[in-house]
Amino acid sequence: MTSTQKSFEVSLSGLHINSSTSIAAVIGDPVKHSLSPVIHNVGFKSLGIDWFYVACEVQEGEAQSALDAMKVLGFRGLSVTMPHKTAIASLVDSVSPAAQALHSVNTVEVTTNGSLVGHSTDGDGLVASLKEQGVSVEGKSILILGAGGAARSVIDALQRHKCQQIFVANRSLEHAQTAVALAPSIAEAVSIVDTAALAEAAANSEIIINATSVGMTRSPTVASASPIPIDLIRSNHIVMDLVYHPVETELLRLTRSRGALAIDGLGMLVHQAALQQQIWTGLMPNVSDMYQAALQALA
Ligand code: NAP
Repeated sequence: MTSTQKSFEVSLSGLHINSSTSIAAVIGDPVKHSLSPVIHNVGFKSLGIDWFYVACEVQEGEAQSALDAMKVLGFRGLSVTMPHKTAIASLVDSVSPAAQALHSVNTVEVTTNGSLVGHSTDGDGLVASLKEQGVSVEGKSILILGAGGAARSVIDALQRHKCQQIFVANRSLEHAQTAVALAPSIAEAVSIVDTAALAEAAANSEIIINATSVGMTRSPTVASASPIPIDLIRSNHIVMDLVYHPVETELLRLTRSRGALAIDGLGMLVHQAALQQQIWTGLMPNVSDMYQAALQALA
C-alpha cells in the first residue's frame, strides 16, 4: 500500500459513544485502507446497539500481543486480516470447523467465560451473497479461478454447502493442487494455462468465481484484465468476482456483455462482516445498509 492510498470513512448521525460502549476492531497490516470500520459501524447502527469498531495496525509477529491487548482492553470482538490469519488460528483457545480446515481465522469471539474462539466467515459470506442473488450452490458445478487464501475459504464453504463439483484453475498448478486437498472428493485442479482443460471446466460449470487478484485497482497492469478468456462465458453462467475494488471489474463488465448474471465481491465482503457481528452479538445486522455504505465509501 502506498501512503497516498485512500482511507474510507463514513459519518454516522445519532452516534453516542460513552464509557460503556463495546469496542470491536480489525487487526492487520496494512489496515488504513480497510472498509471494515465503515461496514461494521453501519451494521452496529442498524442494530441500534452501543458498539463501535476501529482499525488497529498490528505488525507481523505481534498477533499474541494483540490478543493479550484485546483481553486487557476488554474488546468484545476482533476481525483479523493479513498477515495474522494463520498465526491467530494457532493462538486462540479453540477454532470453528471452517477455521480448523483452513488453519486461518478472520474473526475472534470472546465467550462469556473469557475464552477466545476463532472463526472464518469468508466462505459463508460468499455463499450468503450468492443466496441473496437467488443462487444456491447445492448440487452445482463451480469453477474457481485462483488458489490463494480467498479461494481456499470458498472451496471449504462450497463443500460444506453441498456443491457437487469444484474445478480450481490457477496460474500455479501446485497451489491449485494444495487447495483441492481441502475437498478431495469433489475438487480437481486445472492449470489456467491449459486452455483446453480450462475451456472444458468452464463448459461443465454453472458458476464461475474469480478468486484471483486480477482486476484489482491496486495493480494497474491487471486492473483492466479478465482472469478468464471471455469467450468461455455463456449467457447461462453465473459469474462472481471476489475483487471489490473496483466494484465493477472488467470481468463483470464482460460477463454482462455476454448476457450472463454478474455478481460483485462487495456483497461477500459485507456478508462475511455481518456474520462476524452475528458471532459477536447474536444479532444479524442490516446487510443492505452495510452494502450501501461500502458502495458510497468506494465511490
Ligand atoms: P492471495 O492469497 O494472494 O492469492 C492470490 C491469487 O491470485 C493466487 O491464486 C494467485 O495465483 C492469483 N494471481 C495473482 N496475480 C495473478 C495474475 N496476474 N494472473 C493470474 N493469477 C494471479 O490473495 P487472496 O487473499 O486469496 O485474495 C484474492 C482476491 O480476492 C483479492 O483481490 C482480494 O481482494 C479478494 N478477496 C475478496 C474478498 C471479499 O470479501 N470480496 C475476501 C477475500 C479476498 P498463484 O497461486 O499462481 O500466485
